[in-house]
Amino acid sequence: MISIQNQIVLITGASSGIGAACAKILALTGAKLILAARRQERLQQLAAELVETFDEKSLQIHLLELDVRDRSAVESAISNLPPEWSDIDILINNAGLSRGLDKLHEGDTQDWEEMIDTNIKGLLYLTRYVVPGMVKRDRGHVVNIGSIAGHQTYPKGNVYCGTKAAVKAISEGLKQDLLGTPIRVTSVDPGMVETEFSQVRFHGDGDRAKLVYQGVTPLTPEDVADVIFFCVTRPTHVNINEVILMPVDQA
Ligand code: NDP
Repeated sequence: MISIQNQIVLITGASSGIGAACAKILALTGAKLILAARRQERLQQLAAELVETFDEKSLQIHLLELDVRDRSAVESAISNLPPEWSDIDILINNAGLSRGLDKLHEGDTQDWEEMIDTNIKGLLYLTRYVVPGMVKRDRGHVVNIGSIAGHQTYPKGNVYCGTKAAVKAISEGLKQDLLGTPIRVTSVDPGMVETEFSQVRFHGDGDRAKLVYQGVTPLTPEDVADVIFFCVTRPTHVNINEVILMPVDQA
């Protein structure tokens, strides 16, 4: 295991679920955390919680209000980071969502746009503007949060599964693009995780969201964060290309 103390880690979608769990586990390592999301009050709550848990002096956090769908906002946010935060070592492309569960020919095109813009384009924009700095500094690690949905399509999951299949392809392509550099690329692809994901999918319909977990003991966000922690703390010659982690009882 290597130390990532003082390394700069940018986590997108840090305001809840897997992203917030990553922030908590990585705070233990002494890494410098850039926490990005749209909901600033949620990021501030998380930062306050971390300050309470850890020694404030050893904790280094920078909050970033960011909508990953906005290409020019992403470009400007990355290029305007304060100098002490600009040399990102680890990018965790985690921001993502699902909307709706419909047959393709009955689906809501607004939902499609949102999933494609967030899960694919957002990840591409972050990668496009962060990785050149890694190439220049000759070090770095990109961790993309894909999904089992990128490997197997479930009924009515068509567009979401399509976006995660794209994440899988993009991760593999980026790995090839960066061959010959020390920059690592990892795809972490979980099965069902209990987060706000299902609430978001069903536009806040809590009852429908709960039904998703019936008959399954879902992963926790901490289970996924543990795997991410493992991947980013391997010796620098080791690249974990892809991890699929599933609840034991999910098909
Ligand atoms: P949550 O809904 O708990 O978290 C999603 C995060 O993404 C939030 O922090 C949200 O922040 C952020 N986000 C969404 N849209 C945007 C945007 N346009 N710009 C910036 N941030 C955005 O869900 P999870 O933690 O479960 O999801 C994290 C990742 O894990 C996603 O990529 C998801 O597809 C993937 N995943 C989830 C699984 C699950 O079963 N939960 C299974 C497999 C993969 P905010 O709204 O504040 O901007």
